[in-house]
Amino acid sequence: MKDALREACALLQQGEIVALPTETVYGLAADAFNPAAVAKVFAAKERPSFDPLIVHIASRGDLPRVAIVPDDIADYVNQLIGKFWPGPLTLILARHPDVPDLVTSGLPTVAVRQSAHPVFRAINKALGRPLAAPSANRFGSISPTSASAVIKELGGRIPLVIDAGACCEGIESTIISIEARPGKKPLFHLHRAGPITKEQLQEFGRVEKARETVGQLPQAPGQLASHYAPRTPLILLEKPEDFHPEEGKRYGLLSYTGADDGPFVSLHEWECIEALSPGSGKLAEAAIRLFFVMRRLDEAGLDAIIAEPVSETGLGVAIMDRLRRAAGPNKA
Ligand code: AMP
Ligand code: MG
Repeated sequence: MKDALREACALLQQGEIVALPTETVYGLAADAFNPAAVAKVFAAKERPSFDPLIVHIASRGDLPRVAIVPDDIADYVNQLIGKFWPGPLTLILARHPDVPDLVTSGLPTVAVRQSAHPVFRAINKALGRPLAAPSANRFGSISPTSASAVIKELGGRIPLVIDAGACCEGIESTIISIEARPGKKPLFHLHRAGPITKEQLQEFGRVEKARETVGQLPQAPGQLASHYAPRTPLILLEKPEDFHPEEGKRYGLLSYTGADDGPFVSLHEWECIEALSPGSGKLAEAAIRLFFVMRRLDEAGLDAIIAEPVSETGLGVAIMDRLRRAAGPNKA
């Protein structure tokens, strides 16, 4: 493994891009201060240049290299970092002028986090520079939670994938921006639901869903209405009665627990059933397995994937967000 880490570092130093494991999903990393390297990330992913990247720093001390923290939110930033870093919380802050335009899509802000994954951290630290790293998939498709999924998405387009097994969170980081409010706790604008839940953030401030667009531009393009999408149409049902199968079509079920007596499992002769949290119905397990299961169903040659809802509390908010976006604006 040590050789692989050295190779990853050498490639990143030369301005190449490398797929690396993080605790959320696999990322496609480039030296954040090297615009030519960052451009390769956009090209490999076929990502539109209006969709900014998250910058990953090796230590909290590196924050001033990429972001400017105004005095009125400094205490809140420190509290959040103290509690959730390293980990799956991304902060949107004012951008340091050293961060290339391409990384932030020309925005005056930069999205920053410190990954908790030991392999990612080791490479980030050894390189001594921040890493811009979006999910290692083609734009709009399912995020990869294993090295084999990265190879399916980007094989032949990138020189190296570091395989460190499955990701332990399974969904992308929570993204927030912070607004100070005189005499009150701060307001956290939630740009993307993720592993750090609203309930966890509420200990430090009030949480509100961020507006999704500023003018024509998405604020957090992970929030585009169609995203994280399989190629097979995915239909998210609210209740079993909403399912109206067409004669001769092959349907697979994306179930929460997969239990035989569940209202969705017993609804139809499914071609296949994949459970997010087999037997037990745990949201953390469902999050870890979500993209893996979506990918399996996408490869099953179905006419449509039918997804049953999970309860929208805690991690369930982020899971339902991904399911809605996988269904797209017109499909559900
Ligand atoms: P990905 O790593 O592929 O999940 O994509 C990174 C996400 O971070 C995208 O959804 C971006 O919209 C979001 N993001 C990155 N920079 C910013 C920023 N400055 N303001 C708002 N969102 C951002
Ligand atoms: Mg992504």
